[in-house]
Amino acid sequence: MSVILNVSMIEKYYGNRDSITKALDNISFEVEEGEFVGIMGPSGSGKTTLLNCISTIDSVSTGHIYLHHQDITHMKRKALERFRREQLGFIFQDFNLLPSLNGYENIALALTIQGSAPADIHARIHAIAQRLKISDILNKYPQQMSGGERQRIACARALITQPSLILADEPTGALDSKNSRLLLETMEQMNEEYRSTIMMVTHDPFSASYTKRILFIKDGKIFNELIRGSDSRKE
Ligand code: ADP
Ligand code: ADP
Repeated sequence: MSVILNVSMIEKYYGNRDSITKALDNISFEVEEGEFVGIMGPSGSGKTTLLNCISTIDSVSTGHIYLHHQDITHMKRKALERFRREQLGFIFQDFNLLPSLNGYENIALALTIQGSAPADIHARIHAIAQRLKISDILNKYPQQMSGGERQRIACARALITQPSLILADEPTGALDSKNSRLLLETMEQMNEEYRSTIMMVTHDPFSASYTKRILFIKDGKIFNELIRGSDSRKE
């Protein structure tokens, strides 16, 4: 196993001289390739800030984050954009699918932008669609899909570029329990069959039960860590 992500002594402050919030307080941890890591903690504890720092959407105040041994906290903007496009996959609560494109086109978009050949795109989408059981919704537009269908299309979109790391922020937040389960099973499949490394922020114990390791955050610090066996799924 090799370390894919190394978060080293990061701190994040928001605000100005009059009012400073320390959102992250000296956080360090490593993630190995193929892990499915959960980040849990109460509201305001710093979960989203941590994920945003790893995704480079937000910048750290101090400390370093290395992905594949490359320091992503000190990259130029062009390189960052490229890094995000090529190395990261995102799954958010609000799906972010483009309404004017159907499922297939939404999934294809990143590859199309990269200039992949249509035949290659076609083959990759069909392979993923079969695995994630979304072949019959590829022709639908987002407004014709259920929330769960949209979220599974978003999973396929996150996966299609074969990113090193998939970041998910409360991905089941807008889903009912049946669709939550389907999404989590999809993510589990992404992790087990595609060996995708996933980090998922959640406050939901059921979602967390799909992860194999959980970092608990409180007041911007990691205060506990749980590594689970393979058959400890909550029902
Ligand atoms: P969580 O995701 O665990 O709910 P957040 O990472 O959103 O927590 O927030 C951590 C802390 O940082 C909170 O105190 C929050 O108010 C603060 N915070 C988050 N984003 C900002 C921001 N853009 N500006 C100022 N404070 C922020
Ligand atoms: P094959 O390569 O197997 O002959 P097609 O090229 O006809 O198949 O496409 C098969 C499936 O690919 C269709 O059922 C459809 O789901 C999907 N597909 C291909 N292109 C698109 C597109 N632009 N929009 C939606 N679905 C598409």
